[in-house]
Amino acid sequence: MGYKQITINMPTSKYGIKCPYSMVPECIVVHNTANDASARNEIKYMQSNNKEVSFHFAIDDKEVVQGISLIRNGWHAGDGANGKGNRTGVGIEICYSKSGGTRFIEAEKNAAAFIASLLDTYGWGIDRVKKHQDFSGKYCPHRTLDMGWDRFLKMVEGYRKGEEVKPEDYTKGGLRFVKCKNPRLVYLDADKKKITGRNGCNADFFGNYKRGKTTYTLPRGNLVCDMGSYQVPEDVRQDLDKHIGAGKLWYGCLDNAADSQFRNKSVTTLIIPKSGKPYVADTNMIPDNVKYAVSGVPCVRKGDDVDWHNYVNRQGWPADTVRNTYHNWLGVRDGEVWLITGQSKAKSGNMIYGMWFWDIVKDEGFDDILKLDGGGSYYCKIDGKVMPGSSGWRQINAYFAWD
Ligand SMILES: [Zn+2]
Repeated sequence: MGYKQITINMPTSKYGIKCPYSMVPECIVVHNTANDASARNEIKYMQSNNKEVSFHFAIDDKEVVQGISLIRNGWHAGDGANGKGNRTGVGIEICYSKSGGTRFIEAEKNAAAFIASLLDTYGWGIDRVKKHQDFSGKYCPHRTLDMGWDRFLKMVEGYRKGEEVKPEDYTKGGLRFVKCKNPRLVYLDADKKKITGRNGCNADFFGNYKRGKTTYTLPRGNLVCDMGSYQVPEDVRQDLDKHIGAGKLWYGCLDNAADSQFRNKSVTTLIIPKSGKPYVADTNMIPDNVKYAVSGVPCVRKGDDVDWHNYVNRQGWPADTVRNTYHNWLGVRDGEVWLITGQSKAKSGNMIYGMWFWDIVKDEGFDDILKLDGGGSYYCKIDGKVMPGSSGWRQINAYFAWD
């Protein structure tokens, strides 16, 4: 984090159009540019045209650029010639919001840090930080609002206290990283379209299993999850009932069907204990104090890249489980669970071989990351929005959810 602050003076000949009134600032009005230009270019364009549109600052991933003095008004809040936003608000545009990504994330951090310094300068509280939407109803700052306004205000407050607040939802290398509060696993064995709630994704690997007239699925690897409202079909009870108790399904590699490639093997598994922090272990025995467990393809172990042949493949994973398609990963960082989601665009078909995944995550500080089932089973919903994925609507076996 860190920005350079520069000023590009408004030509006095443009005062009548861009900043006709003197101003005593009373609040900060936050905007997103809905554009992909740098802060310098936003200010230069604003000063060069003859529209009654103007703002005090544009902020990008490198610079805070001032284009109007803080004792002149700007036209940015959409609340008219005498509106509080236009006549008393310091207009701040956060750049690169159209496409988002790392440049926007960094621009937003710089904006939060700069706003914290402005609040200190004026001796204001966080209540002075307003959004464009407060004055005219326009959905602006659009991407900041999509990602959470309270989150942004918390970032500002974090900078005031001198701490840098890590974003809880960001993108890097085409993948989205989301911190998962209250993570949980629920049994489903149903069409993935039936995932309900704000946040969730498909969870485990599984195989088809036939009992009488019923075709159903059984987990592969380790799985400990809530049964939720799932009703075990009558004719498969003898297979599943012994694994169900106290509203939970307990299923381990030792229980895996004879045709499971993981039967009796120690497979990389995310373990969320009843008390204590989540961790990742290679195991075929699920410890007693486990609340949730799910196996996946190890992609990062103990903070390091994994060796495909000697480590991943030996657990029983075939190369086509990590081919170029849509995937969900679960990562553990500082004892917290993160969802990582998106499409593999590795040059080689196996995203581990070509270091594609490692190159994206190596500086992110994860202790461990494992990959859940992908491709036709891929499904991910974040804040109520379904993420782009493969067109197949496959049955899934369990899902991962968070608040
Ligand atoms: Zn705006």
